[in-house]
Amino acid sequence: MEIAIIAHDVKKADLVQFLNKNKVILQEEKIKLIATGTTGSKAENSGFKVKKMLSGPLGGDAQIAARVAEGKTKMVFFFKDPLSSHPHEADINMLIRVCDVHNVPLATNEATAQLLLDAIAQQS
Ligand code: PGA
Repeated sequence: MEIAIIAHDVKKADLVQFLNKNKVILQEEKIKLIATGTTGSKAENSGFKVKKMLSGPLGGDAQIAARVAEGKTKMVFFFKDPLSSHPHEADINMLIRVCDVHNVPLATNEATAQLLLDAIAQQS
């Protein structure tokens, strides 16, 4: 199962902490992580194997949206910064829309991401 992880700059530390907290499930063979570029590098630094797309502002969110549309990415954890605007707002909104179009679970905060991951863990 391919899960995309994305975090805006102010949320990157929170995402890494979330990944470490859930290391056991996230490092299972059945889970493949993909990420926007900088988020992916941070996850790699914590020992996670991640397929990296471009950085978000350079099109990484759009690449992940394409994978959602193609049926490759099955879940998205997007730790959004709700207090700032971003140059790639159009891509961010596109990713959210594509998840809704394809009924792909999308967590835009840590609490929701944890609930989704707990649901996956129960399926194993
Ligand atoms: P980044 O992109 O992981 O390359 O920083 C995240 C984003 O801003 O969408």
